[in-house]
Amino acid sequence: MIEKFLKENSINYKKNYNFGKNESGFKVDGFVKYYLEISNSGTLFSFLKEAKKFNIKVVPCGCGSNILIKDNFDGVFLRYLDTSISIEGSSVVCGSGIKKEDFLEFCTKNSLSGAEFLAGIPGRIGGSIFMNSGAYNSETKDIVKSIYITNHKVKDLKIDDLKWAYRKVFISEGSFVTKALFSLKKGNKNEIKANIDKYIKDREDKHPLEYPSCGSTFKNLKEKGAWEIIKDLGLSGFSIGGASVSKKHTNFIINKENAKAKDILKLISYIKNKAKENGVSLQEEVKII
Ligand SMILES: Cc1cc2nc3c(=O)[nH]c(=O)nc-3n(C[C@H](O)[C@H](O)[C@H](O)COP(=O)(O)OP(=O)(O)OC[C@H]3O[C@@H](n4cnc5c(N)ncnc54)[C@H](O)[C@@H]3O)c2cc1C
Repeated sequence: MIEKFLKENSINYKKNYNFGKNESGFKVDGFVKYYLEISNSGTLFSFLKEAKKFNIKVVPCGCGSNILIKDNFDGVFLRYLDTSISIEGSSVVCGSGIKKEDFLEFCTKNSLSGAEFLAGIPGRIGGSIFMNSGAYNSETKDIVKSIYITNHKVKDLKIDDLKWAYRKVFISEGSFVTKALFSLKKGNKNEIKANIDKYIKDREDKHPLEYPSCGSTFKNLKEKGAWEIIKDLGLSGFSIGGASVSKKHTNFIINKENAKAKDILKLISYIKNKAKENGVSLQEEVKII
């Protein structure tokens, strides 16, 4: 059914695609029934309506830097690829498919400051908004003015009064962020560039970037970083199969040696159980699909 629609609308797709190995942060096998890319909201809207008709699950994906596919996924992974970017009035307006480094390059070129904290966080703007990505005491919510969403019912609905939480924005389920308006301030180009370089260097020093990972596995608690909890449990370097708790940053689970998704899942459960025995409830930041 869905293939007929894709062919009729000239939408390229891949079937039984190993998104996990090719795209996701952990680089472990994880097949999706369909993978496709769409770059305009009209086509996205028609596709989502069609998928709804046939009860097909559609998951938005950016770069996959925060996604672990636990099994074969019997649905569609859809990357919305509008990568446009411009300045309109006092806002930077961009498609949610733009990569963060391209967004930052545009901001730097136009001497716009405020988004530098995103430097070195992999992924696209849509993923950053959905996850309310943050670092260095700033979060995506601090710079977003409005977003546009599309789902099977609405096309490019503008939302100004967003509700945010830690690593989360509240949007209706199945919605794609298609576009965002950012509020940034005029700054000094050299200072912006220097701050971006400083954050990237800091990440290189503190994160095990030589191994595939999804960054922080668990959400931090208000009173304590998840890395500290895991370190105190004595789990630094602890491994299951090819998956390991990084010694460099204990909230990073790394694919150290040809890990399988099931190794990572077992390690996540193991850490959660150990934490629970010590009265701490850890919650995954990484999205398990
Ligand atoms: C080395 C490393 C370091 C990292 N450091 C940080 C950090 O410091 N801070 C931090 O917050 N995160 C960090 N991350 C996690 C990750 O990079 C961020 O969450 C990032 O914003 C995800 O973007 P993405 O495009 O890869 O999204 P994906 O991983 O593809 O998707 C993440 C979630 O967003 C949803 N989503 C994606 N695009 C859309 C869209 N257009 N509309 C609606 N939903 C969408 C997906 O369905 C999924 O639930 C790190 C990851 C790695 C690998």
